[in-house]
Amino acid sequence: MENNAEIYDVAIIGSGPSGLTAGIYTSRADLKTILFAGLKWGGQLMLTTEVENFPGFPEGIMGPELMMNMRKQAERYGTKIIDVNFSQGDFSQRPFKLTAEDGETFYSKSIIIATGADTKWLQIPGEEEKIGRGVSSCAPCDAAFYRNKKVAVIGGGDSAMEEAIVLAKFAKEVFLIHRREEFRASEIMLKRAMDNPKIHFIFNTSPIEVLGDGKVEAIRLVTDPKLMIKKAGEEKKEATPESLGGKMIMGAEKFTWDFAVDGMFVAIGHIPNSSVFPDITKNKKGFIDRVHGTSTNIDGVFVAGDVYDHRYMQGVTAAAYGCEAALDAERWLGDQE
Ligand code: NAP
Repeated sequence: MENNAEIYDVAIIGSGPSGLTAGIYTSRADLKTILFAGLKWGGQLMLTTEVENFPGFPEGIMGPELMMNMRKQAERYGTKIIDVNFSQGDFSQRPFKLTAEDGETFYSKSIIIATGADTKWLQIPGEEEKIGRGVSSCAPCDAAFYRNKKVAVIGGGDSAMEEAIVLAKFAKEVFLIHRREEFRASEIMLKRAMDNPKIHFIFNTSPIEVLGDGKVEAIRLVTDPKLMIKKAGEEKKEATPESLGGKMIMGAEKFTWDFAVDGMFVAIGHIPNSSVFPDITKNKKGFIDRVHGTSTNIDGVFVAGDVYDHRYMQGVTAAAYGCEAALDAERWLGDQE
């Protein structure tokens, strides 16, 4: 370390609700704080339109505006925010050394990792351009826009069941489309979805294209080996696309059909942004482990938000985790003195 190098008390990596909340707390606690925001700062809420479930905004607030407010609030109390990507950290000695993608190095006594997770998308034609226009990955955020509409949920895990159950409170009908006949979801979640009078299941089927002009009008599906459905309140049985109001595509190589829906909710998992931390322990899906409180396996390195949390994944829970990590870092720094 160079003799004149500046040493921060806390370095926060990530600028979503967890990172910025951590910054608000550490800088208000008079800890010298630097935050690596990344070139695309703000996290997943920057991709959302209206946020109606963040407390304090009775009329709702646009996702990017909410994030800008959090950023200003962190800066107001002294968090130094740098709009660069984090590249690597040397966690073998303290102060920890952090290197940005442009090569600049920084030193900090403690670290809060808040790099979030990205939705795993299907990566099929028509999907990306309709995110926020009928394609979503967050039913608690967007379900209310589908009152009395017909929507599809893609996936067969707990997230898909949960999304379908949330959507069923508003939508007229929810079709859960899964690529197999067995589910990864827990028994209890599966039963809740199967018992819901608005939720129908389509098996052995995967989306290959999202159709529609500027909004979702239909999904093109491929079924393999045969189309099985379970309509709410009925037994599972073999069906034809026409029996579901769908349309078979004649001449296609495989069993291909179009299914008209107003929205498509993708719930096939998340990808945590944790690969830049090789020394930090993670579960088999890459989510960072908490060892006690918000501490990771490395003393002085804390974790907050969706890079740890694969269960709740909400803006408000991410913010709360940021608060916890900041308080833990503050206490830990106090104990070092
Ligand atoms: P998950 O358990 O990994 O399930 C992902 C589902 O998406 C699987 O059914 C998978 O199909 C399907 N899938 C993956 N890639 C696909 C693709 N390219 N095309 C079509 N389908 C695809 O993920 P998750 O449901 O997000 O759950 C993650 C973790 O959070 C789990 O541990 C879960 O228990 C937990 N969680 C819990 C709750 C709760 O308890 N309330 C709620 C949400 C999440 P295959 O089965 O064929 O692989």
